[in-house]
Amino acid sequence: MLVIPIFVPHVGCPHDCCFCDQKIISGNAVVPSCDDVRRTVESYVDIMPYYDVVQIAFFGGSFTGIPMSEQRSYLETAYPYIERGLVDSVRISTRPDCINDEILGLLGRYGVRTIELGAQSMNDDVLRRSGRGHTFSDTVRASELIKNAGFELGLQTMTGLPGASSEDDIRTAEKIIELSPKIVRIYPTVVIKNTYLHKMYERGEYVPPSLDETVELCAKLSVKYSSAGIKVIRMGLQSSDNISDSGEIAAGPYHPAFGQLVRSRIDYDRLLSIGHVENGVFTAYVPAAELSDYIGQKKSNINKLKENFGYKKVMIRKA
Ligand code: SF4
Repeated sequence: MLVIPIFVPHVGCPHDCCFCDQKIISGNAVVPSCDDVRRTVESYVDIMPYYDVVQIAFFGGSFTGIPMSEQRSYLETAYPYIERGLVDSVRISTRPDCINDEILGLLGRYGVRTIELGAQSMNDDVLRRSGRGHTFSDTVRASELIKNAGFELGLQTMTGLPGASSEDDIRTAEKIIELSPKIVRIYPTVVIKNTYLHKMYERGEYVPPSLDETVELCAKLSVKYSSAGIKVIRMGLQSSDNISDSGEIAAGPYHPAFGQLVRSRIDYDRLLSIGHVENGVFTAYVPAAELSDYIGQKKSNINKLKENFGYKKVMIRKA
């Protein structure tokens, strides 16, 4: 699948999410013109035929929070590529309180297939403390409207927001599962410099969970979603989000390969059930494509098996 990313910052966003500094996250606060959008899409035209599915993705703060006329202009720029058969559909990300029937009507007319909502938490107290400006019931209402209108629903969630315990984040996942989204993203909260959360952190009002705790939690969440048939398409901020550990992040469980840490943690439990031990040697055969996840970064799973069970040797081999 080819996703053509177009960042649409929510300039003048009236909300005050404590973790957000859109300029830093985007690395680019310039609002793209329709010509910019066209140029970006054109730069992918040659490689489009090599992909089974091609989507233009308007992501950023809240696509449907910008004026309707601007939304329409962007969508009108993208639509000819759908008409020409070069692009299959459009995806957008937005806030739960920026969805209504009129907006969905507009999105539907211009080939939008996937709508991702920044749910973040399903706990109203956590949402309030994070300055999100919407409630759990806004997410439920918007999710139902989106699904009933025939769009593919995606929900973005955050762990470790102010006031959220691991149990709160697990309850959020359970409520998200009840909404039956097609896809989910899990973003552990990180403290980005110059945000309100950064001030809270400096004043000692916010203490981020450790990387280990967050990996442990996200492994549980990921297993829950997968068991419910919901695909987790992203875990953790990645380098494409223009975040670097030495740069913009003041604190928090950031790791450039966070998703792999979580997959390895899940695979550790799997190893316990698929491995066998003979003469103190632990052996497990795993799918070739997943070998590095099973071994873990810096052989973490091998080391953990040795430490926890005293095995002389641990062999993780391609099946
Ligand atoms: S995260 Fe919050 S503050 Fe930042 S752009 Fe989105 S709605 Fe606005």
